[in-house]
Amino acid sequence: MADDDARTATLAALLAWHRDLGAADAVGDAPVDWLARGNAAPPGHGFRLARTAAPGGTAAPEAPVGPLAHGATATPSQAPPRVAQPRPAFPPTPAPPVARPPVAPMAPRPLATASPDAALMAARTAARQAGSLEELRATLAGFDGCGLKATAKNLCFYRGAAQSRLMLIGEAPGRDEDLQGKPFVGRAGQLLDKMLAAIGLTEADVHITNIVYWRPPGNRVPTPQEAQVCRPFIERQVELVAPDFVLLLGGAAAKGILDVADGIMRVRGKWREVTLGERTVRTIATLHPAYLLRTPGAKRLAWRDLLAVRAALDA
Ligand code: URA
Repeated sequence: MADDDARTATLAALLAWHRDLGAADAVGDAPVDWLARGNAAPPGHGFRLARTAAPGGTAAPEAPVGPLAHGATATPSQAPPRVAQPRPAFPPTPAPPVARPPVAPMAPRPLATASPDAALMAARTAARQAGSLEELRATLAGFDGCGLKATAKNLCFYRGAAQSRLMLIGEAPGRDEDLQGKPFVGRAGQLLDKMLAAIGLTEADVHITNIVYWRPPGNRVPTPQEAQVCRPFIERQVELVAPDFVLLLGGAAAKGILDVADGIMRVRGKWREVTLGERTVRTIATLHPAYLLRTPGAKRLAWRDLLAVRAALDA
């Protein structure tokens, strides 16, 4: 009984060790006892137990196979202790052929699992190359460096005018936005349209977007890393839209764009000059329409901010 428990604990530890190295998927139906095979590699699968030395003494590169092909490499210090096994007779008896399903070629890893720095560099390079909003949309659609994309249904790029003196930046798409692929089309968006109408503006007069382009699961606030990796695209978007003024909707947008730690109540209502990409704009933050839906008493503060925007446009 005690032996069984110990054996179970050992097997569990071994499984955990493999999982930690990234071996999360079974690639064949039947388990393979590699130790019992000795040095014999199964034919036709490109398996080799050791790298062959290339001329000049360096190991020839080879395609990674098996669980470690996901990028995890066992360093000697990570390797589990080897258990002494009885050596098979040499030459080893060929193992009976094991029926294997065809091995699908491994898909390239999405950037979302690459390091944040690599994803950010890829975002910067990709964003810079977009010569128009439509090119930027296509670039975003092909960009896998933001983890939010994995759970979102649609890319939410912008709604409104392609070029405008006033750009609005919110927090993140919600459920309705995710379904329609456009920012601010749900209840908060309807209130936003009324707020704009109150200062004589329609959707056609403004350019509306968010600090991230995909809906965070459960409508949570985007993480700083998610906002950061989208930032090069926002900056390029600002360059292409060429606004004079940017209205930031809510605390997350204000923090993300202004890079400040203060809450929205402290930050709102103050003009700040900010350089986004190569464009310097005047920004002002206000309360998020979703907050105003829950807290109608705060509308008077938002109204002040909107009047400031109207005055700036008229100046
Ligand atoms: N809230 C936001 O911040 N953005 C949207 O697009 C919708 C709701």
